[in-house]
Amino acid sequence: MAKLALISGASRGIGRAIALALAQEGFDLALLYAGNEEAAAETKRLCEGLGARAALYCCDVSDFALSGETVRRVLSEQGQIDALVNNAGITNDKLLLQMKEEDFSRVIDVNLKGAFNLIRHCAPGFIKRRQGRILNISSVSGLMGNAGQANYAAAKAGLIGLTKSVAKELAPRGICCNALAPGFISTDMTASLPAAARETLLSAIPLKRAGEANEVGSLAAFLLGEHAGYITGAVIPIDGGLSM
Ligand code: NAP
Repeated sequence: MAKLALISGASRGIGRAIALALAQEGFDLALLYAGNEEAAAETKRLCEGLGARAALYCCDVSDFALSGETVRRVLSEQGQIDALVNNAGITNDKLLLQMKEEDFSRVIDVNLKGAFNLIRHCAPGFIKRRQGRILNISSVSGLMGNAGQANYAAAKAGLIGLTKSVAKELAPRGICCNALAPGFISTDMTASLPAAARETLLSAIPLKRAGEANEVGSLAAFLLGEHAGYITGAVIPIDGGLSM
């Protein structure tokens, strides 16, 4: 029986690329999205084109109860969850003095609490079966901080603490939990950057280019695959050298 990966934010960008890389490695997929049904359906179609079974679930991961309901639906419809990828994320960049309480809270709720919600609901199954892989998509902003991203950098740094704590707690049960810290990757999230900001950012990257979502997808597939069973609690930058 193929392994099943549950991926949040699978409709677009890095989430879609991870879904495709996992489909290529023989995983079946539970694809979570927030509201963009058309894009999610396209991810599903592309995964099926690679021979995977793929099912769509609409779920705002910031909602604890809804996340639980979604995990229970996936388990009852698909039988098991072998890997969880916490990829759903948003930005709401503002300088500190312009940042309202709700700007901070919403970014924390989606990027950080959303990951906790899905981990909390998937962990009992992982623990019972004494196996499971968790991959959290953090960011170089969480490693380095970033002016204009106090909310996002705090959420992504929090995700690193969450990753290491879960890795330590669940390691005795054979469960691995890691994080990726992507730099500047070409997706919808970065497409709206003004040209000048984009140029400044690119010039700070040692490899002098943006990363592609499929480069993150390949690394994710490795970490969730059979050869990565001795890696846990790791935070791996994939950033063209930006954070070194
Ligand atoms: P993206 O293209 O903007 O896609 C964001 C994804 O998250 C979409 O699938 C979206 O679903 C989903 N989403 C948003 N809010 C959600 C919610 N409340 N509940 C569930 N899903 C939600 O972003 P991306 O660039 O691929 O980023 C993916 C992850 O990588 C994020 O965690 C981001 O912070 C991280 N990252 C990205 C970069 C980069 O340079 N792009 C760098 C470092 C880290 P809908 O389509 O349904 O709205």
